[in-house]
Formats: sequence, structure tokens, C-alpha cells
Amino acid sequence: MVGTQRVAWHARWVLPVVSAPIAHGAVVVQGDRIVWVGTSDQAVADVHERLGHCVLMPGLVNAHAHLELTTLRGFLEGLEFGQWLRTLTEIRARVLSAQDIIDSARLGVSEALLAGITTIADCTASGASLDAMNEAGIRGRVYLETFGPDRSQVAQSMSDLRAGVQALRARANTLVSVGVSPHAPYTVSDALFAAVAEYAAAEQLLVASHVAESTAEVRYVRDGSGPFAERLAARGIAVKGTGESPMALLDRTGLLNERLLCVHAVHASADDLSRVASSGAAIVHCPISNAKLGQGIAPLINMREAGIAVGLGTDSVASNDRMDIIGEARQAVLLQSLQRQTPDALAASDALELATLGGARALRYELLGALAAGYQADLCAFRIDALEAVPVYDPAVLLVHVLGSGRAAALTMVGGRVLVRDGAELNADSGVRDRVGMAAEKVKQFVT
Ligand SMILES: [Zn+2]
Repeated sequence: MVGTQRVAWHARWVLPVVSAPIAHGAVVVQGDRIVWVGTSDQAVADVHERLGHCVLMPGLVNAHAHLELTTLRGFLEGLEFGQWLRTLTEIRARVLSAQDIIDSARLGVSEALLAGITTIADCTASGASLDAMNEAGIRGRVYLETFGPDRSQVAQSMSDLRAGVQALRARANTLVSVGVSPHAPYTVSDALFAAVAEYAAAEQLLVASHVAESTAEVRYVRDGSGPFAERLAARGIAVKGTGESPMALLDRTGLLNERLLCVHAVHASADDLSRVASSGAAIVHCPISNAKLGQGIAPLINMREAGIAVGLGTDSVASNDRMDIIGEARQAVLLQSLQRQTPDALAASDALELATLGGARALRYELLGALAAGYQADLCAFRIDALEAVPVYDPAVLLVHVLGSGRAAALTMVGGRVLVRDGAELNADSGVRDRVGMAAEKVKQFVT
């Protein structure tokens, strides 16, 4: 139960993100809100919890995931993107049962909580991730996916989407909301994009769409050629290049506006980014997925300079292979340094800002992603007593570059509720690992 007493959480370092790191700091939480942030010796509270040698910071925001694909971690190694996508789509539809899919999502949520993630934006074909998130008490949004590359599919896709959204809204709680996701330009016709844009506006739904992820997608939209065009033509679907970029396509069909979260935008030109900036849309950057699938390095610095709200995402563990936002922050820094050939492209503190407040803004949350009075009490903490954590000159550098990913959180709190303590999920479903293991045995039998 979230009580009304004031609880002070003390740590060796507190990283508020919106202000300078505090050595020997404390965050006072009352109910689901932060009420005070400062130095330990000044903290006034009914209860004092001492985390010890930890960095305490806002909960991490994973602004793009596909929780239902957790079971496919490590199964699709080295596949060309189109083949990768077709294989995972077929396995999800033909091999995994509804029970397998929700277990897959449950395992993903546990992995997130242990990694200090307190908010997930999940794109889902089944909607199962909403139930897994509800059960665990994590914050987030599920964007129900819609597909249909042929114009003739619009009516059916929209009717399925409306019914799906209605069903999910009935199951949503105060922490998890519902959005929609027309999947990508190579799986969604212009007419379906336009229909979703109209529906989202009428229903006040937030939208996420994969866009400008690969050069194959750019060729498909602009020239009507390349592997996506060939596969659609083989299915008897008319393909015609429009001469425009994928971002311009979203703009023309009415989707590029302040409700949209653009996923990836790896191949976004300067013109594309100025369209995004003036539309008020946001972007989620998924550096490890982009690297692993060989898609390219997104123009992250240009996005930030254009004033676009940008967050970090893991994408699915089928292309990552981890749900770890600190790892994404480090990869973002390294890739921008490589691309720009300079060591100061993105500071560790800026990467942590992307991992918290940036993600919260990209997902249109207010008072989330920072430690300050009035903000949601979503916190995470990581121990810094390993040998390599000595000395500490800058706790942001320590977290991003020295400790990196793979450490179980000492604390994960969502809305004032403690969900992870000392590296263990408090309400973990102990059977989920075995059930996912059994589903994986079925996946192993799958042959394309
Ligand atoms: Zn994705």
C-alpha cells in the first residue's frame, strides 16, 4: 500500500537530472509523489530508508519495446531485416499461444523492473503486454499495432483496430494507457495511415510508428523498388514510388503531428527533422537495435538541436538482445562520437537525460523523468560499491561508462510503490521462466 507518511530515501549520490548531482542526498516521497529533494542531513520525514553506496535517480523510461517478443531473444541472429521481420511475425502468429505471448510479456516486464525501468512504451499486436504491465504495477502505454499494405485492407484493419482499442481501454488502469501503432510504411498503405490519423485525432489517442528505419524502407517509399517492393509485388499488391521520404509520407497522410512518436528515424534528412520539429512529433532512438540489425546511426545530435523531444528505446529483445536503458545510453554516446569523430558529441549526463526526462517528454508525460518536488515518485537506484566504481569524479559518467548495463537495481519504485529491492522483484511470478522455456522449445522446432 502506498501510505501517506513521508519516506526519505537516502543515497551516496542523488541524480535529479534537472539539477546538479547531490553527494549524500535524499529524496522524500509521500504517496505517489516526490515532495522534496536535497542533502541527507536536511531531509525531514517519518521514515528514513538508507540505500547506502548507491546512485539514486529518476526511473528509466524505455520509450520503445515489444514485450510479447521476449521469448524470441537470440533466435533470429544474423537474418536480413525483411526475413527477420517475416520470421518473427510467423512465429508470433503460428507457434506461440496466447498464454505463451502473455508469459513472454511478463518476463519482459520483470527484466525491465530489474533494470530500473519504471515506464515502458510498448508496441503490441496482441495487447497482452497491457495485462502483463497491469499485473506488475509498472507505468506505461501500449500502442496496439495495425497492419495492411494493400488499400483493400483498410476497412478490415480499422474495424479490428477499433475493437482492439475498445477491449484494451476496458482493461487499462491508471498507470497504463492505450495508443495505436500503424506499424511502418512498408506494412501500412497510405490510406490506412490516413484512416488511423483520423481515428487517433477523434479518439485523442497517442500514436507510434516505425519510420525511416532502413535504406530499404526509404527506397520502397521513394522509388517503389527494393526488397519490400519485391515481396509486396509477389503478393499481388500494387507498389508505386511516391518520390518522397518516409517522414514526408507520414506528413502527407496526416499522421505527423504532436500525437506521434516516430520510432527510429535513422534515415531522417535535415528536411525530415525540420518537418518533425514543426509538427511537434517526438522521436525514440534505439541505438543498439539499429546497430545490431545493421540499419545505421540515427542523427541524434541533429534531432536534439532541432528541439525535438527524444527518448531512448530498446526495441524488442529479438533485435537487441537486452532490455537495458543504461546500455542504450552508453551505445548512444559511443555511436554519436564515432559518427561525429569527436569525444564530446554527447555527454554522459545528456545520455541519462535522454534515458529519463527525454523519454518522459517524448511519451507526453508531465512531471515524470526527474527528481523534483511534485514529480511522480518513479525512482531507481544502482549500487556503486564495485571496485571499478572507485573513484567517483562524475556519477553520470560512472553509471553510463563504468558500470554500464547488466546490474540489477537496488531499488525500483513506480508511483511510490517499491517493486524491486536489493536486486529482487518483490512480486515476481516464479513460474514464468519455466513457461517461457517451454515456449522456446516450440520456437526451436520452427522452420521457415
Ligand atoms: Zn520496434
